[in-house]
Amino acid sequence: MEVLLLIGPPGSGKGTQAKLLESQLGYDHISTGDLIRAEIKSGSALGERFSECISQGKLVDDRLIFDMLQKRLTSANRTGIILDGFPRTPPQAILLDELLHRIGAKIVGIFSLNIEDEVIVNRLSARLFCSSCGASFNKHSKPPKLSGICDLCGGELSTRTDDIPDVIRARLKDFARLKDAVTNHYHKSPVWLDLDATQKPEEICDRICVFLKNIVQKGESKA
Ligand code: AMP
Repeated sequence: MEVLLLIGPPGSGKGTQAKLLESQLGYDHISTGDLIRAEIKSGSALGERFSECISQGKLVDDRLIFDMLQKRLTSANRTGIILDGFPRTPPQAILLDELLHRIGAKIVGIFSLNIEDEVIVNRLSARLFCSSCGASFNKHSKPPKLSGICDLCGGELSTRTDDIPDVIRARLKDFARLKDAVTNHYHKSPVWLDLDATQKPEEICDRICVFLKNIVQKGESKA
């Protein structure tokens, strides 16, 4: 199994890239944020714990999120996966290395999406999600045709509880605190690519696809 990692602060477009790459490459998109939100929606005791973390902009426990990812991987039966939002800490990166080694999977691309904090705060505070199908919109750059209604399924649009400016700043602070350590874990990898996350999503996706093609040609597909 081939693995792509998307690394970047909240709001850098990891989810958007993951969806584009999923449709281009046919890989399975796995977002740890989505796994957490599904657990919260289920109303479980674990979900309640997660809900508290998320609404304060804090990261959830490394081991708990790793166990959820591991479980999700058992149902990932495609040739590749795109990890969106994992790893976020050095212990998660180590757990992931061990897991991939165990299941014979390899990292074939690590994509670092770089963007200024203030651009993120503006982006995230304008984000809207459909509560039925999960489609995303943005009040400024991608407004729905009818205010508050999903263009795709007619569901109700809402903001995420962690997309309010104070919580966004807390999430950005956490990302900045851990960024160097996670970056150092992978930075010397031949499959690392730095990207400007202010570019159009389709342009970023094209760059990633070209990079992956070159990597395959050069035979450098290992982290
Ligand atoms: P995201 O949808 O990736 O922005 O994640 C939303 C929230 O879920 C984050 O702000 C964290 O609270 C939590 N979360 C998602 N992925 C992880 C992770 N790998 N480790 C810890 N917490 C995470």
